[in-house]
Amino acid sequence: MEDLVLRFIRYIAIDTQSSEESGTHPSSNSQIEFGNVLVNDLKELGITNIIHDEFGYIYVFIDNNKDKTIGLISHMDTAPDFVGGIKEPKIIENYDGNDILLDDSAKLSIEEFPFMKNLIGDKLIVTDGKHLLGGDDKAGIVIIFEFLKYYLSHKEEFRYNLSICFTVDEEIGEGPLNFDLKKMNADIAFTLDGGTIYEANSECFNAASCTIEIQGVSVHPGDAKDVMVNAALVGTYYANLLPLNETPANTSDYEGFIHLTSFKGDVENAKLTYILRDHDLNLLEEKKKLMLKTKEIALKTFPKAIISINFKDEYRNMISYFIKDPRALQMINNAYLKQKIKLKYTPIRGGTDGATITEMGLPCPNLGVGDFNPHGKFEFVSVTQMEKMVEIIKEIFKGTIL
Ligand SMILES: [Zn+2]
Repeated sequence: MEDLVLRFIRYIAIDTQSSEESGTHPSSNSQIEFGNVLVNDLKELGITNIIHDEFGYIYVFIDNNKDKTIGLISHMDTAPDFVGGIKEPKIIENYDGNDILLDDSAKLSIEEFPFMKNLIGDKLIVTDGKHLLGGDDKAGIVIIFEFLKYYLSHKEEFRYNLSICFTVDEEIGEGPLNFDLKKMNADIAFTLDGGTIYEANSECFNAASCTIEIQGVSVHPGDAKDVMVNAALVGTYYANLLPLNETPANTSDYEGFIHLTSFKGDVENAKLTYILRDHDLNLLEEKKKLMLKTKEIALKTFPKAIISINFKDEYRNMISYFIKDPRALQMINNAYLKQKIKLKYTPIRGGTDGATITEMGLPCPNLGVGDFNPHGKFEFVSVTQMEKMVEIIKEIFKGTIL
């Protein structure tokens, strides 16, 4: 039977970039085509109970005559930032801790990525320097397949039914958009997405967006005295009133930020789009207040400008749900303990599909898959870590928490 590496290489050769522009669901046809490949592969394992729905999501339910079901979730798309569909990835059997040459112009250097020292001895798969690898999140999909193969032939070892969902459009923030809790039919789930397996994530940002629209007064500059209100100028003034030390470039760990993502303006109109992020919901509300207060200050200098501010809440920090129901985290902790692998929880400086799915009512922390430097040519996976994650998932399904 096809092993983890061969399957991974076959899957990353298929370009499944999602698209921010298309407006369709899924956002790219390639995700449907890749979905068809996955459905075929599932059928080859003898699975018939597969839903491949109109939005491109794939759901699989394996009944093991148990009361409770654990779900596993990974996404099929890769980031729109960089070209996918790599045909010639390189396998490094036993990483020696030195720089890795990707092509004539690109190398993975220890100086730039010092964490690579922790991967000495691992089997790695790296890019050709011209594509992203696609381990985000095909490493997750392959880990689920490896576990699934074992689960099907060792059902008696496990205490839970298995539910799987392969989602679409995670990279454009739409992963949970058409996710169906009923089709998932699980009591607890885990997303398999992201970095080192020695870290898991149960915390993410609370998120809101903020749009600021400014209306100015446009007249001929020769006759502008005391009449013209330059909306673009008001916009830059507003932006500069906000604290620089609260931008993404100046914050880390648990510090939130105010991030200007787009600015469009001329004399007549200006539009500023911000995203506001904080792990602490109260501090996120403080950031909203600051945006409103800044408007008042700007209006003192430009009293004739019309400034309107709109907030839209996005996702919530999932930790608030795990405080109420910590079972998903207990399952992870027990599994790592059984495997004698040390685990650290790190806050995600972003959101995850799991955060929204948790908010929908299905507790869903995130597990690492051994993928590093995602979304670009420096992406690589540790096969060694991927294999270890398969073992950790086995322990989760043998656990006794639910
Ligand atoms: Zn991902």
